[in-house]
Amino acid sequence: MAKTALVTGITGQDGAYLGKLLLEKGYRVVGGLRRSSVGAYTRLHELGIANDIEFAHLDLVELSNLMRSLERIKPDEIYNLAAQSFVGLSFEQPIYTADTDGLGVLRLLEALRQCAPTARFYQASTSEMFGKVQAVPQNERTPFHPRSPYGVAKLFAHWATVNYRESYGVHGTSGILFNHESPLRGREFVTRKITWSLAQLMVGRLDAVELGNLDAKRDWGYAGDYVAGMWLMLQQQQPDDYVLATGETRTIRAFVEAAARRLGLDIEWRGAGAHETGVDRQSGKTVVRVNPDYYRPAEVDLLIGDPTKAAVELGWKPKVGFDELVTLMVDADLKRARDNTNHV
Ligand code: NDP
Ligand code: GDP
Repeated sequence: MAKTALVTGITGQDGAYLGKLLLEKGYRVVGGLRRSSVGAYTRLHELGIANDIEFAHLDLVELSNLMRSLERIKPDEIYNLAAQSFVGLSFEQPIYTADTDGLGVLRLLEALRQCAPTARFYQASTSEMFGKVQAVPQNERTPFHPRSPYGVAKLFAHWATVNYRESYGVHGTSGILFNHESPLRGREFVTRKITWSLAQLMVGRLDAVELGNLDAKRDWGYAGDYVAGMWLMLQQQQPDDYVLATGETRTIRAFVEAAARRLGLDIEWRGAGAHETGVDRQSGKTVVRVNPDYYRPAEVDLLIGDPTKAAVELGWKPKVGFDELVTLMVDADLKRARDNTNHV
């Protein structure tokens, strides 16, 4: 019989890619969905899978709903991708973020313990837990030092997962994933903000892109590769923690340059700090400006992951490199800009 997977956060970037992968593997996929006044299926439509997924109303803030859902769905595997996932917003909505990303995971683990004790559990943990990094590169043994309400809440959820594994024998795995992007990434995240905005600029609908800290460094991979790693983690006999990363790091500035290059722009940086601008050498046009409103109260300056354990134990390796990722994202957003569609 086909295995049943419950994917919370099915409408998000990773939910869409993971849903597609699990369907291809023959799973019955149940997608946890928050009630919304607008259809939130755009990413699933984009991947052509909206009609192949069963949906269940599920919200991490409601324990009784989680318990009934697990009793009804009887999942073999639970992928908990649901979260308020934007670090920037977590400074503005710290309590809401903690309730969803921290306590919400504890609620789901309690529901699992009561109603689906044999289900395997994947928790979407994050490199943001490393925050002010204590070692370079970061691996499963690197101490944590989160720098945002998001990172703090996710760290609680990570330890809750480890604790339920150790206390109750739950098959709970924490995937510590470094940033992963795609043409389906939310537009508030810096990579997609850059590709979306530069594409809008190319068709004359935007004057310049406003960004915050250009010096931060991130280890960016492709979301499609990372959801394959999630699945591999839950196929292991023993639950554990794994880092997924590319092992390469680049500044925001470097991402801007690469995206611009794909669009035929050649960026020269002028000025410094809040007065820095990115100017296209050929046209002399300013295409990037710094706006300090996008600075964060505390920053994560450098993330670079060491995915050796995932490579050795899971046989996982990222397939899409940085240039290919930028190309995928820029080309998708340029097409959207030319078609004047803005649904994703
Ligand atoms: P998205 O923001 O794209 O998706 C988040 C999903 O969670 C959406 O489906 C959203 O629903 C849902 N959600 C939010 N709040 C609740 C709630 N209270 N109850 C139920 N569902 C809720 O995130 P990604 O797909 O990029 O990330 C997936 C997970 O991986 C997240 O937990 C994220 O924190 C984590 N992560 C992501 C990384 C990345 O680089 N992408 C890196 C490391 C970890 P709705 O559509 O209704 O808003
Ligand atoms: P994060 O790593 O989960 O916080 O992912 P983001 O894509 O939101 O941010 C990555 C880095 O880009 C952080 O260091 C931000 O401070 C930096 N950054 C610079 N300008 C911007 C911006 O305009 N928007 C966002 N989201 N991040 C920005």
